[in-house]
Amino acid sequence: MIKTGDVGLLTGKVAVLGYGSQGHAHALNLADSGIQVQVGLRPESSSRAAAEEAGLAVGTVAEAVKDAQVVVFLVPDGDQKALYDNEVAANLADGATLLFAHGFAIHFGLIEPPAGHDVVMVAPKGPGHIVRRLYEEGFGTPALIAVAQNASGQARELALAYAAAIGSGRAGILETTFKEETESDLFGEQAVLCGGVTQLIKYGFETLVEAGYAPEVAYYECLHELKLIVDLIYEGGLERMHYSISDTAEFGSHVVGPRVVDESVKENMRVALKAIQDGDFAREWIAEMERGRPSLAEYRSELAAHQIEQVGKRLRALGHREVQGVHGVG
Ligand code: NAD
Ligand code: MG
Repeated sequence: MIKTGDVGLLTGKVAVLGYGSQGHAHALNLADSGIQVQVGLRPESSSRAAAEEAGLAVGTVAEAVKDAQVVVFLVPDGDQKALYDNEVAANLADGATLLFAHGFAIHFGLIEPPAGHDVVMVAPKGPGHIVRRLYEEGFGTPALIAVAQNASGQARELALAYAAAIGSGRAGILETTFKEETESDLFGEQAVLCGGVTQLIKYGFETLVEAGYAPEVAYYECLHELKLIVDLIYEGGLERMHYSISDTAEFGSHVVGPRVVDESVKENMRVALKAIQDGDFAREWIAEMERGRPSLAEYRSELAAHQIEQVGKRLRALGHREVQGVHGVG
């Protein structure tokens, strides 16, 4: 774990492309660290006003990229290739560094920067608003750094400098590779964090409701309580969670958990990982993006129509009113 970087290496301008979750946090943290920043946005971008109000210099992508020492890609991963091809490549200054917060576009070859440019990653391990808030509080968000191309011989030091300038030095900087970061990130979100958890919640809910239990009860049991359990796991690991629950829950967890999520699930996980490593998943997603993301739109409306989402919306609205009510009485 590295705790520092030489911010003094960032002598020129940093062009931050995009002003979303990560973009606003990086731009503001860099500026507060004394780095010269220009945010690059589309002329019609709705973020322009927000960036200007925050006191940042804003320009078009081309304006920001010209004469920048570092160009930071903080637009969605699926939009990075088009942005690079259409607005970045022709405007890159000699020797400018390309910096990414996730390895997708470089690792899967969507962007192939010419020799002569450093290509690095600084990936904060947290959402943008946390990256900004912790910095403001005098702390930072841990970050992974990696080097894909080291033209200057100083790419690693520059990545460390950038990580320090966004506050990550205070929390810890870990070295990885574009391959490791990209593949493990995709696997985590698909198999466990987003895909796996969603499917587990839906199956649990459906099993109870199909057996005649009230959807409201099933919602609280299979979705709502998950947060309380995850908070315990986050605090002190799986043991801490098992310590906090009843002995009955603990015994059931050990005995029945592996019967439900059995070896076949692990085999499915291996298949998912292989599709990531082989590039099959990336090809599937890139083809989907080229078609205008029709399947993604379909998945979204299917999920919105699922009973657990309907029930959840109603119950959360109710809970919100109750909380306000209590507050009003107090
Ligand atoms: P986001 O969707 O929050 O924001 C993207 C921004 O880019 C928006 O302001 C959008 O208007 C702008 N944009 C889109 N297309 C553009 C274009 N053609 N030209 C200029 N601006 C354009 O994105 P995000 O979640 O901050 O992700 C940015 C990068 O950070 C991605 O590589 C992502 O993988 C990575 N990352 C995100 C998180 C996270 O928690 N959100 C964490 C770590 C890394
Ligand atoms: Mg991730």
